[in-house]
Amino acid sequence: MKQSKTFIPTLREVPADAEVISHQLLLRAGFIRQNTSGVYSYLPLAKKMLTKIETIVREEMDAIGSNEILMPTLQAAELWQESGRWEAYGPELMRIKDRNNRDFALGPTHEEVVTSLIRDELKSYKKLPLTLYQIQTKFRDEKRPRFGLLRGREFIMKDAYSFHATEESLDETYNEMVQAYTNIFTRLGLNFRAVIADSGSIGGTAGTHEFMVLSDIGEDTIAFSDSSSYAANIEMAEVKIDYKQSEVDMKGLEKVATPGQKTIEDVSTFLDVVPENIIKTLVFKIDEELVVVLARGDHEINDIKLKNALGAELVELAEDAEINELLGSHVGSLGPVKLPIGVKVIADHAIKSISNGVAGANEDDVHYINVNPGRDFAIDTYADIRFIQVGDPSPDGKGVIKFAEGIEVGHVFKLGTKYSESMKATFLDENGRAKPFIMGCYGIGISRILSACAEQYQDSYGFVWPKQVTPYDVHVISVNMKDEDQVALGEELYKTIKSYRYDVLFDDRAERAGVKFTDADLIGSPIRITVGKKAAEGIVEVKVRHSGETFEIAKEEVVDRIN
Ligand code: ATP
Ligand code: MG
Ligand code: MG
Ligand code: MG
Repeated sequence: MKQSKTFIPTLREVPADAEVISHQLLLRAGFIRQNTSGVYSYLPLAKKMLTKIETIVREEMDAIGSNEILMPTLQAAELWQESGRWEAYGPELMRIKDRNNRDFALGPTHEEVVTSLIRDELKSYKKLPLTLYQIQTKFRDEKRPRFGLLRGREFIMKDAYSFHATEESLDETYNEMVQAYTNIFTRLGLNFRAVIADSGSIGGTAGTHEFMVLSDIGEDTIAFSDSSSYAANIEMAEVKIDYKQSEVDMKGLEKVATPGQKTIEDVSTFLDVVPENIIKTLVFKIDEELVVVLARGDHEINDIKLKNALGAELVELAEDAEINELLGSHVGSLGPVKLPIGVKVIADHAIKSISNGVAGANEDDVHYINVNPGRDFAIDTYADIRFIQVGDPSPDGKGVIKFAEGIEVGHVFKLGTKYSESMKATFLDENGRAKPFIMGCYGIGISRILSACAEQYQDSYGFVWPKQVTPYDVHVISVNMKDEDQVALGEELYKTIKSYRYDVLFDDRAERAGVKFTDADLIGSPIRITVGKKAAEGIVEVKVRHSGETFEIAKEEVVDRIN
């Protein structure tokens, strides 16, 4: 491509609102432009790079027999209601109405659509297993879109879905996917780890893995050991909480009238033992450490009571503090609770430290006094909490735990029958019995990978792309477009190198040399060929971007040298 004909709007200044280097450089080198928050146009350089990333992904998907399709972005609300996610997905789901006031979503993911497709089309076990994938624009109304393409509200994802008659068949495809993902990220040259993303898998069989690119700007923290293959998302590695229903026997305990909360403020300990799932989470700060208290009951627990219960100086964070919100959606459900590092769950501790406490709100304006955890209800049914810390032995016994930040670029997941059961998608097995499909799903953040590559492959001048993702392999620059020899040799090399199937960018602009070189460094093609003063003698300068090495060669040697 001739640079005079393409669209690479480079910037000299570092854009003020771009916090991380990849975002700054993608703007400065003219790869992307923001349209609105979390929504970007991919300009020619980014589009070429996306195509290269997608090609690698397609090759590895095709190699394991996954079939490319393209499903609709516009998804009827009815499908989401069937799966129960119209409610459950929350504000991240982009909801719209058509002219008849019918509800739709812009697809953030495609479990519902693909399940309904297969439900209608596939009836026999003989057609299983089947894996489908697509590369498509997704929509998620992220609370905090940021870092350019890393967290967009509109972004490109590869999502694959597999359908099986048996668990063994799912395991087989899942393992093939893990291998395909490993191949993809290895081919992309990314420094990544496959991490366990499910607490249930510590010591058990894994049902989900995330692929994390190690990077300081990553929003996830990974616990891993250098001497083993163990790696887990810290959120999952750190805390596992099982809620079990506690049998609470309040018979024989004394009741006191406590109209409203105020009447028990002077009680030295407080505990709410309403025998329901924990539904309230409070976050406190003790010294510099965040402490999460899981409370039962849906009424306010004020900090005085908790201060006394915990015997610590507590500073209550805002109830709607982000952390509280993060926790809020998980509390009350069975399964793992996601917690950032430094956060401790002390429900267990808080409960154990209580003697002759007060338990309340089982009845309006009434509390029980002299409640003793362990005597009146079983403590160990509250929570089973595990932490992992730097320096701990790795759970597989090999080496010690380290932490690192990571960018989630891929995620593979055994769904089981979650969607096929709720959406009644069944096939007939060998004995003619209807069974729900066993499913897996597998995502890759295509546009996020572009940013992850940008973060990894750069120096102070601009990008330093490796061969497999670079928009252009070779950048030919005719320094002075008023010099006929330089123009002619530039043209000649451009054509010759292109004929060897390299992607070549030819800087034929009537710009100053300084501008051309600065732009070339920003754009970051692996090889730059400068056609300058020695053009008449047929001599050019080659610069290798990643090593900075330069040398002069005759034009005839160029193709051999770049091979
Ligand atoms: P995150 O934890 O970063 O929010 P996620 O777990 O919600 O991601 P998945 O539902 O697992 O994402 O989607 C599959 C892949 O899509 C992710 O692994 C990631 O690479 C990519 N992805 C998810 N959300 C975004 C986004 N807002 N912008 C760009 N890529 C994204
Ligand atoms: Mg997300
Ligand atoms: Mg995630
Ligand atoms: Mg994920």
